[in-house]
Amino acid sequence: MDFKLTIQQEMIRNAVRDFTEKEIKPVAGQYDEERRFPYQNIKKMAELGMMGMNIPVEYGGSDVGVVAYSLAITEIAKGCASHAVTTSVTNMVAEVIYEFGQEEIKRKHIPKLCNGEYAAGSFAITEPHAGSDAANIRTTAVREKDTYVINGTKSLITSGEASGVIVAWAVTNPNAKKGKGISAFVIEKETPGFIVESPEDKMGHRASPVNELVFDNCVVPANCLLGKEGEGFKIAMMELDGGRIGIGSLAVGVGFAAIDFATEYVKKREAFGKPISSFEAIQWMIADSYTELEAAQLLVLRAAFLKETRQAFTKEASMAKLFATEAARNVAIRAVQMLGGYGYTKGYPVERYLRDIIGTTLYEGTSEVQRIVISREILNR
Ligand SMILES: Cc1cc2nc3c(=O)[nH]c(=O)nc-3n(C[C@H](O)[C@H](O)[C@H](O)COP(=O)(O)OP(=O)(O)OC[C@H]3O[C@@H](n4cnc5c(N)ncnc54)[C@H](O)[C@@H]3O)c2cc1C
Repeated sequence: MDFKLTIQQEMIRNAVRDFTEKEIKPVAGQYDEERRFPYQNIKKMAELGMMGMNIPVEYGGSDVGVVAYSLAITEIAKGCASHAVTTSVTNMVAEVIYEFGQEEIKRKHIPKLCNGEYAAGSFAITEPHAGSDAANIRTTAVREKDTYVINGTKSLITSGEASGVIVAWAVTNPNAKKGKGISAFVIEKETPGFIVESPEDKMGHRASPVNELVFDNCVVPANCLLGKEGEGFKIAMMELDGGRIGIGSLAVGVGFAAIDFATEYVKKREAFGKPISSFEAIQWMIADSYTELEAAQLLVLRAAFLKETRQAFTKEASMAKLFATEAARNVAIRAVQMLGGYGYTKGYPVERYLRDIIGTTLYEGTSEVQRIVISREILNR
């Protein structure tokens, strides 16, 4: 077993780390406060190859592999979870179109996702009444000659207002068994009948808008179908496995950012005539936090390695996402505790890390859904 990164993986991690220090960290707090999508930074990140990291070069991607992708998302998230989730979801959208799209659709959209001409891509499954139970969606797509007519509403969709292209799921056969009559479609932002509603005002990830998307007799050409009719739910679940590696990587980054900041703070802050880092209670919080985050990163990188080497990784991706997001949430709570009352103020970034990390235990499958996936994989093997 080799734990060593390749030279290329180290170079990518270091380059993204530099970019995060110079371009992301200085603006993260302000963008969070103003709920502002970081258009300029996302464009620069696309130009550096961060938006199609598992896409072949001939489609505009950088094709550096899943391990390098995981390291990059972790580094971005050390600066800002919103930048990181935009990057993760946009990569996922490029990948699903690459894996299942028809050739002309791939050529049309993937280069624009990779080079930043599209500020983002969106992955739209959730509906107002169906989140965890994603097979229960009600949006419909009805075939009419060479088109599909889509009607319905998606909710909480990351980057909805910023995306040039959306992959959305709809029921094409209402009579099929649950999950068997759903299909996936590629929809361009300008398509008539596609409406983006105002963003939700949410606790964290505030520089990453989530919008309701409405399809009102939205007509798309038939070649926008991904895979075959009825295969959509399977496609969504496969892509979410990969997405969970991205979110696990993101959580590791937020967790490290929180404990790195708190560790520097406790070295300088004094109480009872000594730096608070000299108290055992504080030292144990540091020890537990770094131990849990390193364990989380090992799980995440193992899942990334399995995906990169084309081995089964469903269970491992869910374990990585579950453990990393919950570990990082515990770490962020400790980081606030280590800063005392100041940790609870906007003067320090740890409150943002805590607000951001809570979201990661909810989207791309809640922690409860990850436990369902993991136990099902174990019981059915
Ligand atoms: C910041 C953010 C970004 C998002 N981005 C996207 C996006 O880009 N695309 C998209 O499609 N969606 C997105 N979502 C939606 C997200 O995927 C859903 O919120 C999530 O799947 C949970 O669905 P729900 O909110 O409907 O909760 P529900 O499904 O109503 O669940 C509520 C609670 O019940 C629990 N629960 C439900 N079923 C079970 C069960 N069988 N066993 C045990 N517990 C259960 C859940 O774990 C949760 O704790 C985003 C959400 C957030 C917060």
